[in-house]
Amino acid sequence: MINSFAGKVLHVNLSAGSFQILSVPESVYAAVLAGKGLEAWYLYRHIPAGADPLGPDNILAFAAGALCGTGAFLTGRWTVACKSPLTGGWGDANCGGVFAPAIKQCGYDAIFISGCSEKPVYLFCDDKKVEIRDAFSYWGMDAVEAEKALHLDLDSACRKKPCIACIGQGGEKLSLISGICNEGGRIAARSGVGAVMGSKKLKAVVLAGMKPMRCANPDAVKALSKELGSKLLKMSMPSGLGFFLGMGGRMMGHLPYLPLDGSLTSLMFKEWGTPANTSLAITSGDGPIKNWGGTPRDARLMPSIFNPEHINKIETAKYHCYSCPLGCGGKLKIKGRPYTTFDETHKPEYETIQAFGALLLNRSLDSIYQINELFNRAGIDTISAGNTIAWAIECYENGILSKNQTDGLELSWGNTEAILALVRKMIAREGFGDYLADGVRKASERFGGKEYAMHIGGQEPGMHDARNDPQLGIHFVAEPAPGKHTVGMGIEYGAMSLCDICSWAPPAKPHSKEEDLEDTETMALISKANACYTMLTDGAGGCYYGQMMGVHMWKLVDYLNAAEGWQYDGDHYMEIGERIQTLRQMFNIRQGFDPASVSLPKRMAGEPPLPSGPLKGISLNNQTQVRSHWRAFGWDPDTGIPLPETMERLGINALLNVEENI
Ligand code: SF4
Repeated sequence: MINSFAGKVLHVNLSAGSFQILSVPESVYAAVLAGKGLEAWYLYRHIPAGADPLGPDNILAFAAGALCGTGAFLTGRWTVACKSPLTGGWGDANCGGVFAPAIKQCGYDAIFISGCSEKPVYLFCDDKKVEIRDAFSYWGMDAVEAEKALHLDLDSACRKKPCIACIGQGGEKLSLISGICNEGGRIAARSGVGAVMGSKKLKAVVLAGMKPMRCANPDAVKALSKELGSKLLKMSMPSGLGFFLGMGGRMMGHLPYLPLDGSLTSLMFKEWGTPANTSLAITSGDGPIKNWGGTPRDARLMPSIFNPEHINKIETAKYHCYSCPLGCGGKLKIKGRPYTTFDETHKPEYETIQAFGALLLNRSLDSIYQINELFNRAGIDTISAGNTIAWAIECYENGILSKNQTDGLELSWGNTEAILALVRKMIAREGFGDYLADGVRKASERFGGKEYAMHIGGQEPGMHDARNDPQLGIHFVAEPAPGKHTVGMGIEYGAMSLCDICSWAPPAKPHSKEEDLEDTETMALISKANACYTMLTDGAGGCYYGQMMGVHMWKLVDYLNAAEGWQYDGDHYMEIGERIQTLRQMFNIRQGFDPASVSLPKRMAGEPPLPSGPLKGISLNNQTQVRSHWRAFGWDPDTGIPLPETMERLGINALLNVEENI
């Protein structure tokens, strides 16, 4: 039967210089789709327990989702996964662009890379050949330079312009907070995936296949996309509204929880991209200020400095990921602006603006453009880097770090020059920057100041405060890749309307903020539904912003049925999401990662609570809520280990015995 899967994966062993093309049985796709689901199934079975994340036994996986190439909108995301050197457990990161369809056009759903090369190499694939090639001349280049140089050398010899994912200096120098880039510095940033690629001496993966991608019922998929496209086309916003975002956030900080309409988020992202969130986040309590210890009072003027209209004014072009009509990305002209040495940069994401803005009390948007470009080129995660620099400033302020230790830099809040100097040092792994380049946990183990080190299970949290959204706090801790902010937020649950596709997902109702602090079955079912739907989206290759539109706009269940020729209901698909999440948790258990050892930093848990601002007086009940979340998943509430009956119900034991065929 025709469905959307390529049906094959490529496994390259860089130590042996060999490769195998393997067929994946249909039962695997039916159980976990592709994308992160396929990666979880494969990595659990092939990475030995206790493997060194930077050694030859670790496997770096690149995967496209089930819906990629079917014509379904917002399904062009690619996922990279491995054992994380940052946490010691499951690691993954996700990015847009056109790399996902390129994997499928080579004839694969995923590419797995094990072993380590002795010298720098790159992997070249099209639909006819697989070659491990010398990368000596590209090693040492930043990600943008390397991509350009590879295009220059390869394009004329390929039947189509290749798609390239590569590492910059961050991955080459094994920075544990480095990621993997494509399309001129767009980065799959989290979990230290760049360091894993660097440890394999793999500079780039170059894909130039032209195989057609498949779909069971293309007309039905097209009709769904037409419906969504016409809704998005009708949306527009009068200009100048960005100024009011800060005020809106202030109101949100004081109002009870109200379910949002998903179309509102789409409208904002269409107009401004993710920087739409910055001013709102600063005033509402969502965005961390002054290393998660400040209040909007500390960030005075910032809502207006980071008004997304200022960014739109220097935008020269908008861009879209593959098969996405929303187009939240953009290129900015930054030539000649203060602090900048580049001509252009990608529009910085909200996470970058917050991590190098209010988190450090840095009031220079221009410096953030420069930092964005520097880190995009180096392939370093701005969330982790911002949290690490915030720790350094607070340690310096409290006498834990001296001027001698910081290479003579005076670290103080809002000191733009010093922040820029640290960024450069981190990229070069020079002096004090060498210690910062491995993230905040390692730096605080070396120098002290653990009370200021904001990490969750080893990974620095995304720029959203759990005190503002206790649901998010559950995922920060319970997620197999802890600290990720893209698994579930209470604030978005209402917009998604999951209760309309899933019989057990509770409806979102207006409620007081205090209710979110309670440990209730409803709260646990909401967090379970959030996580299952996110895993389903990842298996499909969907964009998180598609999720946020809600199930009535981005019809994931209908898309999957049309693309695969299936007729399943939402409950069936949510169970696929549950299976993927349980497999990722099992990966952690097998690798010796103890879920029960993970907790929020005391400051984020509200211990002690803040004395003023929108988060005033809030202390979380996070550990109890996490245990209820595990119980809702059918995992042991004390240990987080999936129970035998859950493994049986989800068919995971049988699934782990299915073999790929040569
Ligand atoms: S919404 Fe933005 S990030 Fe998501 S697929 Fe579209 S362009 Fe890419």
